[in-house]
Amino acid sequence: MDFLNVHITRLKYFILSLTISLFTVIGYSQGSYKEVVAQKGDGVYVLLRRHGLSPSEYFKSFITLNKDGLGKNNTLISGRKYKLPNGAASPGAVSKGSTITYPIFGKKYENVPITSSELKGAVYYLVSGHGGPDPGAMSIYSNKELCEDEYAYDVTLRLARNLIEKGATVYMITRDPNDGIRDESFLKPDKDELCYPGQTIPLNQMKRLRQRKDAVNKLYVKHKGHYQRMIAIHVDSRSRGENIDVFFYHDKRSNAGKECARNIQKVFQQKYRQHQPSRGYKGTVSSRNLYVVKNTYPVAVYIELGNINHRRDQQRFIITDNRQAVSNWLTEGLVKDYKDRRK
Ligand SMILES: [Zn+2]
Repeated sequence: MDFLNVHITRLKYFILSLTISLFTVIGYSQGSYKEVVAQKGDGVYVLLRRHGLSPSEYFKSFITLNKDGLGKNNTLISGRKYKLPNGAASPGAVSKGSTITYPIFGKKYENVPITSSELKGAVYYLVSGHGGPDPGAMSIYSNKELCEDEYAYDVTLRLARNLIEKGATVYMITRDPNDGIRDESFLKPDKDELCYPGQTIPLNQMKRLRQRKDAVNKLYVKHKGHYQRMIAIHVDSRSRGENIDVFFYHDKRSNAGKECARNIQKVFQQKYRQHQPSRGYKGTVSSRNLYVVKNTYPVAVYIELGNINHRRDQQRFIITDNRQAVSNWLTEGLVKDYKDRRK
């Protein structure tokens, strides 16, 4: 799009995107929830509906949020206070000067300082692979279970935080109510991830993919006219002997997707040259027929972080600093892509 012709719109958009940023990465910390008292005879559905929240979308997060205060079979106890999940329209994040609090990043990382405006105007949909009942690829490392969805999620959260710092509008499409950014090496598998804004993730693969596709496409329409990118993050599963670098897929019809992937790939090439010159980097960019990439409206890049079964690849996931480094490099590539597209 032509950014020179939209000065006023961009200013308006800046204000709008600040506002949007406040409620896009809604989290679940204590204290930032509206509390309501259950009346006699109230059930969860009735209570949610009374407060303008769609029960089908918010039931699961309501239960998670109030699990200690519920009666048998998730009944409400009248006279008792309950927390309401933050709906898409009610800010879960609190803005204080140039620092915004996003509880989804967890206590340690929830305060995000906005340090630049490099990505102002860019909108990202971050979809970490699998989640809910589906752990994705699995492997064992010193008697501990490694699950794709947990590691992909942690890298995705770190990426989200980086992008927000630079002024982007970010939607976490796969979301975990209580795992923030985790600094442990071994990320405990759980099954409580939800799909934006608070939908239970179905076990059926097709339903799951369609659910996230719909979530992204609904939001895309709202941001029409802006630079928008869908980034899917996965961990591959290959034979134990196969060492693979971070690599990328795009839709075969999408030059912009290819270009975005190339921009990220270039950063990885450069970082490897810098940090591990003797090793070399072989991560590829290619097209592939992938449902979410093909059927979501935004330009999409699908990223594979490595082979969950390979010893050396595992270091990329298990060592916390490596997860951070990967997210930083992804961020650098995306910044480059945004700048290129605006030229
Ligand atoms: Zn996957």
